[in-house]
Amino acid sequence: MMKPTIATRFQARLDERRAQSLYRQRPLALSPQQPIMQINGLPMVNFCSNDYLGLASDPRIKAAVCADNSAGWGAGAAHLVTGHHLHHHLLEDELADWLGVERCLLFSTGYMANLAVQQTLMQTGDLILGDKLNHASLIDGARASGADFKRYPHLDLAALGRRLVASNQPTLIVSDSVFSMDGDLADLVSLQNLAKTHQAWLMIDDAHGVGVLGEQGRGSFSHYGLAISADTILVGTFGKAFGTTGAFVAGSTVLIESLIQFARPFIYTTAMSPMNALATREALKLVKQGNDLRAQLQANILQFREGAQQIGLNLLDSASPIQPVILHQADTALAWSEALKQKGFWVAAIRYPTVAKNQARLRITLSAAHSAEQIEDLLQVLNDLMVW
Ligand SMILES: *Cc1c(COP(=O)(O)O)cnc(C)c1O
Repeated sequence: MMKPTIATRFQARLDERRAQSLYRQRPLALSPQQPIMQINGLPMVNFCSNDYLGLASDPRIKAAVCADNSAGWGAGAAHLVTGHHLHHHLLEDELADWLGVERCLLFSTGYMANLAVQQTLMQTGDLILGDKLNHASLIDGARASGADFKRYPHLDLAALGRRLVASNQPTLIVSDSVFSMDGDLADLVSLQNLAKTHQAWLMIDDAHGVGVLGEQGRGSFSHYGLAISADTILVGTFGKAFGTTGAFVAGSTVLIESLIQFARPFIYTTAMSPMNALATREALKLVKQGNDLRAQLQANILQFREGAQQIGLNLLDSASPIQPVILHQADTALAWSEALKQKGFWVAAIRYPTVAKNQARLRITLSAAHSAEQIEDLLQVLNDLMVW
């Protein structure tokens, strides 16, 4: 039999994607991340980044990086070699103090943190139970762990409870806190209780919670008034509200030491830029002091939701900055996204396989940096599209 070339294997798949309105492209940004951006050469009001507090281009972060002479841009090596700079170490300590956990450990991306935790903690014969709408990185981490992996219906804790009763394998429950494509919240109180009752461990991906929710932006656990217990693992990322890049795992000393010893996505990779660690330390200060930014963000969410309800948009039940408008068909979502572009608004169409096949949507995200006028103008264009 003839073995395939790359072209024979992929050209048909590429053509098929295009025919189904599922082809993806990378918009080219020529300006910093902010509400008004140059995208593909055109000025656009950006309503689809995850820069919830508007920190990605904050001049204070840039100034902190420029003022520092203790590090260069490159880490030069992995953390266990010579890559672990004081800025990484201090950032980990500052995060742990802020969250009230024993220790934190940095990762270059949230994707890698989610692989690392599940691969390291779980093994063949164990069981991972994950929400159906968990982020792709959590799903990939579960698959790569070697454990049995079962998904329960979105937010269906009764179904999760039945799975827990039915098994006596060592078990890890894994969930997003704020779901990245729907914007709704997992019930962490019940999840933590279920975990405790069944001696399961609990892993929460708080990528969209840290910085946004809770006292001083401490995230979803703080939002629910919960302490992070010994068999709980928290993953947070810096690419969203912090406005930088990278991620951390927070939890007990035993957890963090085990990751340092055994987690391949931690060991076999160059440390994040020490300058990024410094930038993130500055971002953490701004997040802690960010009550005004969080209040502004909440006001912007409210303004959008009230306006959207008035014009009859099909919103999901989300109190978070993630406000999806469900349009079902991929080509409808693309057409709306294109029409918004024509009017100067950048809003991504989210399609299969990121969401289920008939669940294509516009994923509108709000930031504290948006002005009331920008939100009003977006609503106006959406209103015109409703009758279109
Ligand atoms: C963005 C995101 C990640 C990935 O984090 P990166 O640092 O961008 O790799 C993981 N989980 C969730 C829920 C996310 O939204």
